[in-house]
Amino acid sequence: MMEAINRRKFLKYAASAVAIGAISVYGRAGYNDRKARTPNPKVARDFLKIQYRTKLEEATGGTLEFLKRVYDVEVDTETDFSGTGNRISAEELSFEEKKESLLWLREEVVKYPPTLVRHISGLRKIKVLKNVYLDDKPVGGFSTDGEMVISLDRGASQRFTWGGIYHFSLEGNSLFSGIFHHEFSHNLQSWNMTQEDYSEWIELNPEGRNAYSKYNPSIILNTLNSPDFKASGFLCENSMKDEKEDQADIARLLMTESDWMISSFKEDAVLASKIEKCREYYYRWSGGKMNEMYWRDLSEDMIKEGYWD
Ligand SMILES: [Zn+2]
Repeated sequence: MMEAINRRKFLKYAASAVAIGAISVYGRAGYNDRKARTPNPKVARDFLKIQYRTKLEEATGGTLEFLKRVYDVEVDTETDFSGTGNRISAEELSFEEKKESLLWLREEVVKYPPTLVRHISGLRKIKVLKNVYLDDKPVGGFSTDGEMVISLDRGASQRFTWGGIYHFSLEGNSLFSGIFHHEFSHNLQSWNMTQEDYSEWIELNPEGRNAYSKYNPSIILNTLNSPDFKASGFLCENSMKDEKEDQADIARLLMTESDWMISSFKEDAVLASKIEKCREYYYRWSGGKMNEMYWRDLSEDMIKEGYWD
């Protein structure tokens, strides 16, 4: 949920995979060939990777292959930021966590038309990890051009106090799927939002750009948690950071919450205008596929695999 970091910076810290040492696997040459008896870490690594991937595919009904084939998105669960200093760090998931999060991810990705993801979003890779830190700060996820990192629940749930109307905590699947849709929105923004679009969004705030100048995490958190807090045109403290976060949080709301909850936020006129604007963007970016009927079907939980066939 951090703002996007630029690609050059990202690549600088994304090191090559850590070699697995001390595994005796021999090369393909004959047994009598002395050279062939030298352990070949690359062969060992590739072999283990393929074996592991096959096991994960069996456990998730071929989710990696499905997402690549239908959405052209590669999903990876490796911590290949390590050895790069503290700027980006993360922990690998257990097999069970990988299985669970891949199945969640599949359910969320199919909510979008394949053409939107393949040709409009620019999203090419999703990394699913846990305990992700960016610049020494724990983050739920972040996006670079075409790449998204999602941190699985850290154990502690995140608390949201949206619009001052509804207080709740997110954890497990709903936290994870929220992060995915929020980050997906950042991908769409970076490839599709024009300066005009951003200005238009900012103007939805009665105070315009000034609405974002008050962002101060500690003050906002206290304010939002106070029982006297009134609806403000923002969903949560993160939304008050800037127009990109604001829109990504609205997208998260639209993609994961019930109609009932969305309509309760509409009591806040500014929030209502942002919800409408966000739907307009999705309608445009999806070439009309995410239309009125789509939002109805989504609220009735009808957007499943095969919906777009
Ligand atoms: Zn964000």
